[in-house]
Amino acid sequence: MRKSFCKNAKFSELTTMKVGGCIERFFQPATKSSFVDLLREESGPLFIIGSGSNTLASDAPFAETVIRTRFGRVECLTKENGKAFLRADAGVIWDDFVKICVQLGLQGVENLSGIPGTVGAAVVQNIGAYGSEVSESVKEVEVWDREKKEVRVLNRDSMEFSYRTSLIKEDIKSQPPYAPNSRFIVLSALFRLSSNNFAPIKYGSIAEYLKKPMGTVEKLWDIRRAVLCVRGIKNMLEDPVRYKSKLMADMMPERLKGSSLPDDPNPDRASCGSFFTNPVVSPEKAALLPQDAPRFPSQDKVKLSAAWLIEQAGFKKGYPLQKDPNAKVALSTCHALAITNRGSATSSDVMDLAEKIRKAVWDKFEIDLALEPVLIGLEQK
Ligand SMILES: Cc1cc2nc3c(=O)[nH]c(=O)nc-3n(C[C@H](O)[C@H](O)[C@H](O)COP(=O)(O)OP(=O)(O)OC[C@H]3O[C@@H](n4cnc5c(N)ncnc54)[C@H](O)[C@@H]3O)c2cc1C
Repeated sequence: MRKSFCKNAKFSELTTMKVGGCIERFFQPATKSSFVDLLREESGPLFIIGSGSNTLASDAPFAETVIRTRFGRVECLTKENGKAFLRADAGVIWDDFVKICVQLGLQGVENLSGIPGTVGAAVVQNIGAYGSEVSESVKEVEVWDREKKEVRVLNRDSMEFSYRTSLIKEDIKSQPPYAPNSRFIVLSALFRLSSNNFAPIKYGSIAEYLKKPMGTVEKLWDIRRAVLCVRGIKNMLEDPVRYKSKLMADMMPERLKGSSLPDDPNPDRASCGSFFTNPVVSPEKAALLPQDAPRFPSQDKVKLSAAWLIEQAGFKKGYPLQKDPNAKVALSTCHALAITNRGSATSSDVMDLAEKIRKAVWDKFEIDLALEPVLIGLEQK
């Protein structure tokens, strides 16, 4: 196969955090079969990127290959006995998939509306929000096995999903400081959803927004609309300005098409979403925290609120803009979990603030905050 690649792509243009260096070889296959052909040929280190909304790359040039997934379609395979099976290719924009499910009256992913990124990464990361996780709806995942050089199917159990992670994410995380992709590259995912135009409200802020008690059954469209509004208010949607770049135009979610894109970037949206995952600790450890610390049961353990720990350790929303309005990097003014690039931050600026926060939380509570984004050329201390 004759391969053409782009020579001037940069991670700063491809990621929502807007930092990161030049890429030596950047490919964007147009179809799933050309993606598989490329994977078959590229046996060396490579990094797969979707929308770059969970990736933090070093500013140093990246001497390897990056392949972006932006291909594919959603196919409704069967719809009977109240269940529907849909296959979505890895390069489908996640929110476009959610929109299709809601349009078809299929319940299961509506609470995950508006999460930036692609279907492939959603499965790797086991995305979650407002009381749902994608793993609840995944039946199996079609992957390229780089070791055996063949297409395989991993069922839900083999994916080893747990809170914000999977077999594939653990494999990626085990290879710092450069996170080449794991043995398995997602080609598509098979989802099992319920044929139902309605779903219960599963989360406090959505109930509050809809002014209905938790558990009230609402139309899927109303849940989707509420989730998108709550996300918008908290600046937990990606910055639409990024789609003005020629390299990003193809990645724009359907819901933004047809509306005019703003001229100015919104610095509260230049983030990876939550920079830290919520720590999951033993009940004994959780019992040592002050009484008002939020705690959520998580099997035989306790999930804590990373945002609460961060605020208690002295980092309020917007830190350090209150004292330094020109700071290059700061917590979002709407959300203590999101580290944001205020316009000219480098990857080291982002990592320095992350480390400062981790140290303060450790010193105060002896709890280690884990980073959620995938790091390229950067190392967590
Ligand atoms: C404003 C904002 C809000 C967010 N809110 C949430 C939220 O509510 N809940 C949540 O869970 N996350 C959230 N995120 C994080 C992010 O949107 C998700 O992690 C998303 O799944 C990343 O998708 P992506 O395509 O952008 O991934 P990328 O950043 O492009 O890639 C992430 C990782 O997945 C790997 N990968 C990508 N595609 C494949 C593939 N086909 N096969 C194998 N590996 C692959 C990459 O190599 C990389 O290691 C948010 C991010 C932002 C910026």
